[in-house]
Amino acid sequence: MNSKYIYLHTIGCQMNVYDSEQIAMRLATLGYEQASSMAQADVIIVNTCTVRAKAEQKAFSLLGRLAKMKRNKKRLIIGVGGCVAQQEGEKILDRMPAVDLVFGTQAIDRLPRLIQQIETRRCRIVDVDMDAAPEIPESLVESRNESQVSKFVTIMRGCDNHCTYCVVPFVRGRETSRKPESIMREIHSLVKTGVREITLLGQNVNSYGKNQNLCTFPELLCMINEVEGLLRIRFTTSHPKDLGSDLIPAFRDLDKLCPHIHLPVQSGSNRVLKRMNRQYTREQYLDKVMKLRDTCPQIAITSDIIVGFPGESKADFEQTLELVKTVEFDGLFAFQYSDRPQAPSVKLPDKLSEPIIRKRLQILLELQEKFTRRKNVALVGSTQLVLMDGLSKKQVSDAPAEIGPDLQWTGRTSTNKIVNFHMDESAADCENLIGKLVGVRIDKGFSHSLFGRAINVEPSAGGLKGVENYAA
Ligand code: SAM
Ligand code: SF4
Repeated sequence: MNSKYIYLHTIGCQMNVYDSEQIAMRLATLGYEQASSMAQADVIIVNTCTVRAKAEQKAFSLLGRLAKMKRNKKRLIIGVGGCVAQQEGEKILDRMPAVDLVFGTQAIDRLPRLIQQIETRRCRIVDVDMDAAPEIPESLVESRNESQVSKFVTIMRGCDNHCTYCVVPFVRGRETSRKPESIMREIHSLVKTGVREITLLGQNVNSYGKNQNLCTFPELLCMINEVEGLLRIRFTTSHPKDLGSDLIPAFRDLDKLCPHIHLPVQSGSNRVLKRMNRQYTREQYLDKVMKLRDTCPQIAITSDIIVGFPGESKADFEQTLELVKTVEFDGLFAFQYSDRPQAPSVKLPDKLSEPIIRKRLQILLELQEKFTRRKNVALVGSTQLVLMDGLSKKQVSDAPAEIGPDLQWTGRTSTNKIVNFHMDESAADCENLIGKLVGVRIDKGFSHSLFGRAINVEPSAGGLKGVENYAA
């Protein structure tokens, strides 16, 4: 039988990355192998994001390019999945005549059947059905044969929070938690394939299990902490309103839970937080930051901020800058506010002009850059435990064929900082260290990464939290 190939293009968050892997594994059951380029593919799937307008535009511009490609390859099947598919449904078929399949965020399990129908009948299909309480499908991890050090594991889908700017509740549906047994099965299987770090995914992991009588999120973390062979656990995202006194001690008590939390604040102004329906105040947020640092002093804290929310005054924005100065985040994702048609904030008055939003974004990013760089420079001279991931991106693009002593390897600290480093060992010995914790002396700190040399390549006993010593 001739091989059939699928090419997946993923736009957006980690959830989409996870979903794309699930799509690939499901289509493997029909004999589809992953294509190395779009030109090789028989099926191209664009997994889309609609959180901001730019991501949606990206998807449509790619679909435009694919339509041109299809003119010379009539049997090419083009599918659109993810949040734009869920939001636009049928309209995508009208707008994009080259598209064969539109499938929503809950249709991944049905994909093999949908693709088979298109293969045999050359029909066009839309499946954006949503269940009020969907069961999260079992992962097909057992069928994987490639090995990776770090993987995402979805533990929840959807969101019940209704932040006024956000489209997620409309395109991902009601919050549903996956059963602990199913999560544990996936993690055990991943570890068997060589995975050493997992990142648990959910829009608000703190409310895991709450409406379904499952275990709590900290209880789930305790179970995962016992998995033999797993070195590190991470999770994202934590909603500040639900970050409770049951979760904070886990950073101190669970040896595999990395000391890093992504805690999106969105704004430093109580007036704006209220209009965003975030359900916490600036003071409550700062109190949680203090408790986290009291309990786990080495914890790294990162955040998301939206700049230019409707009605954000100069004084509101200054409060955001003040909060950033007070917390000194380890890293920050700052976004220009983007009107989303389904989100309630689209109807709010006092929209800010694009140049004002852009200027504010630039001021915020410049401020944060100083803190990130300062924190990274403070680590110069220290030794960090790095989970070795492989060759650095720069290395792969510069000299993919040559394996020599000047190779640059890469990995992350437990606090989620990227470290690129050299090693004195032979290339073969270095390759054997992929997936192991390596002690790296930090020689340089930049805005987005650290640079150093491996000095201790013996897998360390204990100390998995990752910071062996600090710079003086
Ligand atoms: N569930 C997570 C939470 O509550 O923080 C975040 C999910 S959202 C996919 C990721 C980030 O996108 C948000 O934290 C927010 O900063 C940003 N975002 C969401 N909607 C946005 C909008 N309409 N305009 C700009 N940024 C937005
Ligand atoms: Fe969107 Fe708010 Fe839910 Fe996060 S918590 S996904 S920002 S509605």
